[in-house]
Amino acid sequence: MNRTFTMNRPIATGRGRLSTSDALGRGRQAREARITRAICAAVVLGILLVTPAPAQALPRSLIDRPDTSKKPQIHAIYVLPSDGLDRRFDTDRTIQRSVRGFLSWLSKETGKKSLRVDTFRGSLDVSFHRLSSTDAEVASSDPFVRDALEAALKAAGFNAPHKIYAVYYDGHSTFSCGGGAWPPELPGNVAALYLLGEPPGAPPCSTSILGARPPGYFEFAMIHEIMHTMGFVPTCAPHQTLRGHVSDSPRDLMWAGDAAWELPPVLDLGRDDYYKARLPGCLDLAGSKFLTRKYWPRR
Ligand SMILES: [Zn+2]
Repeated sequence: MNRTFTMNRPIATGRGRLSTSDALGRGRQAREARITRAICAAVVLGILLVTPAPAQALPRSLIDRPDTSKKPQIHAIYVLPSDGLDRRFDTDRTIQRSVRGFLSWLSKETGKKSLRVDTFRGSLDVSFHRLSSTDAEVASSDPFVRDALEAALKAAGFNAPHKIYAVYYDGHSTFSCGGGAWPPELPGNVAALYLLGEPPGAPPCSTSILGARPPGYFEFAMIHEIMHTMGFVPTCAPHQTLRGHVSDSPRDLMWAGDAAWELPPVLDLGRDDYYKARLPGCLDLAGSKFLTRKYWPRR
């Protein structure tokens, strides 16, 4: 069953806004961009199957464990504000389910490949980091919560040049449910979800279930933000719009526009913008060094 995402209209029925805006720089242009990029998601609860966490899981780690691969990869981090409630999503396999959800979706879309993730002894390597700032302090940086998270994580040592950090931030934003970088215009290495976000005019982000099966809003939101942080959708793509999105279909993973966003999404519908589009000199996911056939750890 599809969940629909709608733009934030005066009478909003949607929820879960996503954008690259918190990394888009400041000023009038950024404000306009973030308004137009805002996407809301309508949620139907009760359709999601969530399986209990398996008993086996790696213990909490405050560091990025030794790497299995030196190739470009995604590293997941569970981040809390200094006063945030610890829901232990890093150790109860919630984040593992979430990552597996979007990796599996992508592998079906590509037919074989997905994003390489950081593993340790066969398991997903998830780090934990508690910020020195309070939830309110972080939220006060809106719409630049992503920037604040990236700065804090960089200072804490999470800044490997070949990694994109998939940050599950268990805190608030008053603007959206997530954000990403968008190089080259907006360089960065953090793609973030704000699990307790409260976008104006929309239901709280927390009405979605993290790690849902089948994959749900948060899973597609995370890979949407990871794609932005990898540089998608590039401006050379014919349907690129609103800084890093596409305009040709509300079914597209990277859609932004007035119509509802339909989930589960499709990877580059029509294959004409960012996956196997074969546009000379234009960034294409098919050529990404983040893609691998062996995308999931053994357990
Ligand atoms: Zn976006």
